[in-house]
Amino acid sequence: MTTDDTTWKRCSTCKKPIAFAAPYWACSVSTCNRRGALFAFCSVDCWDGHVPVMRHRDAWADEATAPTAAEWAREQEHEPRRIVVGSTPAARGAADTPRRGSAPPRDVLIVVSKLKHYIRETTGMNTSDDVIETLSDRVRDLCDDAAGQARAAGRKTVMARDFTRR
Ligand SMILES: [Zn+2]
Ligand SMILES: [Zn+2]
Repeated sequence: MTTDDTTWKRCSTCKKPIAFAAPYWACSVSTCNRRGALFAFCSVDCWDGHVPVMRHRDAWADEATAPTAAEWAREQEHEPRRIVVGSTPAARGAADTPRRGSAPPRDVLIVVSKLKHYIRETTGMNTSDDVIETLSDRVRDLCDDAAGQARAAGRKTVMARDFTRR
C-alpha cells in the first residue's frame, strides 16, 4: 500500500488522509490513544462515529496536532520523548501542559463534544467549529486577565476570585 509523503495517518472512521503537522482529533479514552493502537479522526463527527462502536461511556474528542514528517520519523526510530497522549488520566492532564520555551500554546481549551452537547440540549442548535477557537481565545484572555489580578495581589496562584472582577 502506498501513501504519499504528506500523509501521517488516515482518519480511523472515514479513511481521509491526515497530513503531517495537521490538526486532528484524538479520542480521550486511553485504549484508543495507546501507542500502536492510536485512533485519529479528521473531524469530531468521525470521532463521534466510533464512540458507539467502541462502547465508550465517558469520552470526548481532544484536538491534537499530527507530528511533522521529521518528528514522526524520529519517533519511529526511538522511544518517543514526548508522549502526546498519556495512557492514564493523570498523564492525560500532563499532556495538556504547555510546552516550555515556545510561543503561548494555541490549544483548544474547550471540551468540544461537551460544549456541542450542551448547546444542542439547551437550544437544539448546532455549533460551528470556529466557535471553539473563539471561545478558547476568550478563555485565554480571561486567564491572562486573572493572572494579572493574582500577580497584583502578590500571589503565584490564580484563584477563582481573580475571574470575578468586571
Ligand atoms: Zn474522518
Ligand atoms: Zn475512542
